[in-house]
This record gives sequence, C-alpha cells and structure tokens, in this order.
Amino acid sequence: MAQWTERELWGWGRYPRVPARVGRPERRSEVMAAFADRDASGLLAHGLGRSYGDAALLRDGKVLLTRRLDRMLAFDPETGWLRCEAGVSIEDILETFVPRGWFPPVTPGTKFVTVGGALACDIHGKNHHVDGCWSNHVRRVELLTASGDVVICDAQNEPELFKATVGGMGLTGLMLSMEVQLVPIHSPWIEMESVRVENLDHFFEVSAESADFTHTVSWIDCVTTGKGMGRGIFMRGRHARPHIDGNEGVVGVAKDVLAPFLDVPVDGPSWLLNKASIKTFNEVYFRRHPKGSHESVVHFEPFFYPLDAIRNWNRIYGKRGFLQYQLVVPREPDHRSLRAVLEAITSSGMGSFLAVIKEFGAQDNGGLSFPMPGVTLALDFANYGDPLLALLDRLDRIVVEAGGRVYLGKDARLEPDTFRAMYPDWKAWRDVRDTWDPTGVFRSDLGRRLGLCMGGV
Ligand SMILES: Cc1cc2nc3c(=O)[nH]c(=O)nc-3n(C[C@H](O)[C@H](O)[C@H](O)COP(=O)(O)OP(=O)(O)OC[C@H]3O[C@@H](n4cnc5c(N)ncnc54)[C@H](O)[C@@H]3O)c2cc1C
Repeated sequence: MAQWTERELWGWGRYPRVPARVGRPERRSEVMAAFADRDASGLLAHGLGRSYGDAALLRDGKVLLTRRLDRMLAFDPETGWLRCEAGVSIEDILETFVPRGWFPPVTPGTKFVTVGGALACDIHGKNHHVDGCWSNHVRRVELLTASGDVVICDAQNEPELFKATVGGMGLTGLMLSMEVQLVPIHSPWIEMESVRVENLDHFFEVSAESADFTHTVSWIDCVTTGKGMGRGIFMRGRHARPHIDGNEGVVGVAKDVLAPFLDVPVDGPSWLLNKASIKTFNEVYFRRHPKGSHESVVHFEPFFYPLDAIRNWNRIYGKRGFLQYQLVVPREPDHRSLRAVLEAITSSGMGSFLAVIKEFGAQDNGGLSFPMPGVTLALDFANYGDPLLALLDRLDRIVVEAGGRVYLGKDARLEPDTFRAMYPDWKAWRDVRDTWDPTGVFRSDLGRRLGLCMGGV
C-alpha cells in the first residue's frame, strides 16, 4: 500500500493553491505501488514545482513528487549521452557533469527543474535560436502509461506517444527515465557581452547582429512608453573557448559569504510591488548599465540562473502570489502586436516587475510545445485579482490575432476556446492521449481547465 500525505500544493507563482494527496516514491517499485493505489480522482507527476500555475497540480487528486527518483543510470563519456531517472534535476546534472566537461543541452532560467518537468513542458533556453528545445536533445523516454505498462518510446518505437509526451504537460503518463545528450564544454565560464538597447527597434537590431552568439536574452523595461518603449539590457554569450579563463576564487567566496543573506524568508507585504516601486526598479536597472556594450567573462551560474541566487524570491509578491504570462508572436515588420501588448500593460498601470524578451529560432515541435518562430515575451504580474485577469484576457486577444500562443508551463487562467485558437494541433494531440489513457488516469488542474483530459470541459 502506497503512503499518501494530505497537503497543500502550489506552483512557483503560489497561485492557485490546492489540497492534494501526495506520495514521494524513491524507487520504481514505489511508483508502481502508488499507481496500483490510484483512484477515480486521477494521478499526476510533480517535479520541482517550477511551473508557475496549475500544470503540476491536481485538486483532491493523488500527486507523485518525483524528486527522489534521482539516479543517474548510465553515461557515455565518448558521446555525452546520459540516461537518468526523471526526478534528476538540472542542478544535479551541473554538479555531476560540469567538472567532467559536459553541460545540459538546454537550460531554463532556473536550475531547479527536473528532467521530467523539462520534457513535459518542452522547455526552451537562451539558445533556442540555435539548439531548439529540451526534446530536441532527448532520444528516448521510459513512460508508465495508464494501462500500467511501461513503454519505451522514441522516434522508432511508439513515435506518436513520444511526440505527445513532448510538451504533453504530464498527461500522457509518468516518465520514469530518459536519455538526453549533454554538450561538451571547456570550462564553467561564459564569454558574455551586454548591450544597452534604447527601444524595441534597437532590440531587434542587436538581436539580428547576435547570430554568432549561441545564447541571447534581454531584460526589457515594460513601464516606459513613447520613444523608449522596449528599452532594456541585451545579454549574449557563449561557452568559453579553451584559452578564456575567469576567476574561480571570486565566485566561490561570493557564493559562500552571500548565500545565507540571499533568501526571502517571509511573504512580502502587499504594498511592496506597486506602480512606483516597479517604475523605480526599471529606471535604476536600465541606468545602471552604461550606454553601449560591455564584455566580460562570467561563471555560468549568474549568466544562466541570476534569480536562483535569491532563495524563495517568489515570496516578494506576497500571500496572493503572482502570475507569469509568457507569449510568443510571429515576427511582424512593425512589431505591432508586441507594441500593443506593451501599451496595454502600461495603460493598465499593472506593470511587470521582471520582463524578458527573446527571439526564438525556427524550431517548432508541434503538439502542445510552446516555442514557434517569432518573439517571446515573459512578464510577471503581482496577483491583482480581476483587473489583472481582464488585462491578461486582453493580451490573449492580441496574441491570438497575431497567430501566437502563451506558454502552458506558466499558465493558470487561460480559457479553453482561447487555448484552442492558440494551439491548433490540440485535437490531434488529445486523440493520441486518449488512445493511451482512455479512462483518464493522468489528469491535472490545467488539463481539466483546458479540456486536455477527463474531468474538465
Ligand atoms: C525562475 C524560473 C525561470 C524559468 N525559466 C524558464 C525558461 O527559460 N524556459 C522554459 O521553458 N521554462 C522556464 N521556466 C519554467 C520551468 O522550466 C518549467 O515549468 C519546468 O517544467 C519546471 O520543471 P519542474 O521539475 O519544476 O516541473 P513541475 O513544475 O513540477 O511540473 C511541470 C509539468 O511537468 C510534468 N511532469 C513533471 N515530472 C514529470 C514526470 N516524471 N513525468 C511526467 N510528467 C512530469 C508535471 O505533471 C507538470 O505538468 C522557469 C521557471 C522558473 C521558476
């Protein structure tokens, strides 16, 4: 009999929060026992809970926290192929493999995600324009399906199931392990250049000039209007060449000394993030960077994971939590839709504290995978309740009209009709899912809300 504990669960945005029965299997036999102990309320995998909304939540259902399934199973030092359990995190991979000269092929803006979560959301990183998504570096997945069978799927064996599992938000089954290709590196250093961009047109100019850089991303000020709309700091980099070296000592000392102080131990007060503080933050952050560009050699941690240095940073948004809205729209000559989004935000007065913009490459994995050729913008909003939901509905309309979509891994509020307009492949995806899970064993609150599994619309 599997062990279940009643507790509240939430995603990184801490909205919504739902009661669930939680199991923490450490071995495959415990996963199988939990599966046998499922009931009509359904089952869902939950990795490190870094999806923002309700993708990893199942109200009143049974949720398996996969983090303890964290074994590295095999590694080929000739080719870089790693086979590992689905609860292994990017942090685990970095700790084990960076000293041996290997790096994850794609990484999100936090290292606290599991490889299961990475494939279920088909995550993208700063190198999407060159390397695509996480799934483009995974050749095989071992999946516990709704029948109780463990299916090994890849491009030859059950390719439809493999494709549906990519970006499938945990609704095709529970991943037990996968094979992922790591990439060789010479050192932990990144050759980085930051450029101050003065507005949206300038951002696109710098982005176009950055083809030589494997990694690009830009912070953007989304409270400034007029000529400065879209101003920000563009960061581009690449893994350092063999002769380039940084200063290891400085990184080590900074980490040890600062670590205990970089924590948000309690919820921030509701007044902390208001129109004035957001405006001030954006102004200071922009002005801190001198005009023009600046070159440096930095450790991979601050380059890829600047926010990981502040533990529990999601608490600054207070008890009501926050919502992230990440959109992608095809590139337009006048960037009309992006401008319309930024104008809608500034006129609403609900500025985003952190906003990130990046041009995706040509890779589009179809199904429910988010990235498509175009420009992506990620925005964090304190949970202002109904006025915020109304603003996000407005942004949805702009995005749909432009032929774009929003990222399900960040979503907590999309309506089913809007979702269908954004993801035209959804029906084909759902047909594959229903073939493998006709009775709806695997469910999530996001899936029920959007009509992706049983028990929803
Ligand atoms: C600070 C921050 C920065 C981020 N930056 C990026 C970014 O740059 N790019 C990007 O793409 N995303 C980004 N994300 C989102 C994050 O990468 C994804 O949501 C990722 O899926 C989280 O992994 P997780 O292990 O926490 O999964 P969870 O959030 O726990 O789960 C996410 C989904 O994966 C499913 N799942 C998890 N494990 C399994 C399994 N073993 N089998 C089947 N399904 C499973 C869950 O059911 C759920 O549907 C960021 C998140 C944060 C907090």
